[in-house]
Amino acid sequence: MAEHIIKNGRGQFSTISLPTPLIQEVDKIVKEWRYWPTKTDFVREAVLQRLATYRKNNPQRITWPCHDCGVKEGELHKDGCDMERCPKCGRQLITCDCSDADLEGLPRIPYILVPNLCALCGIQWPDLFTVPDEEWQKYIIPPLQDKVLCLACYEDQKKLFPNGWASVNRQ
Ligand SMILES: [Zn+2]
Ligand SMILES: [Zn+2]
Ligand SMILES: [Zn+2]
Repeated sequence: MAEHIIKNGRGQFSTISLPTPLIQEVDKIVKEWRYWPTKTDFVREAVLQRLATYRKNNPQRITWPCHDCGVKEGELHKDGCDMERCPKCGRQLITCDCSDADLEGLPRIPYILVPNLCALCGIQWPDLFTVPDEEWQKYIIPPLQDKVLCLACYEDQKKLFPNGWASVNRQ
């Protein structure tokens, strides 16, 4: 996230004015601690931290236009878009098994981005990672095995069942 902001924001910083006593205090901290190269770095870090806290307390849905045809949410996909949903089964139209006759007369489905969620903590779009099947089946209980988990929750499960969930039976 931070990297994203810096990349796009370089050269287009806006100025934030702070009351003089506050600037003097920041100046003092930056000089004494020598951790932040400049006052701006100090302020930027404070802002990013505040923003992270705000986002945590006010979760907002993450969304973007259709990555294939570019339409916005609420619009119909452009003709031939791979992300077109089947009006009958709701799956991706190019991969579902419905026939033309099944779809006859059904309304097309507008684009809405449906997020991947961690099945345990609910975080949106967790970073994907791969583990060998064997390991996954050892630490993740069967009802969760076909679900998406974030790395933090996966690590939690490993801590909870250091010898795998099945070993609880032998304790
Ligand atoms: Zn599309
Ligand atoms: Zn279908
Ligand atoms: Zn999680």
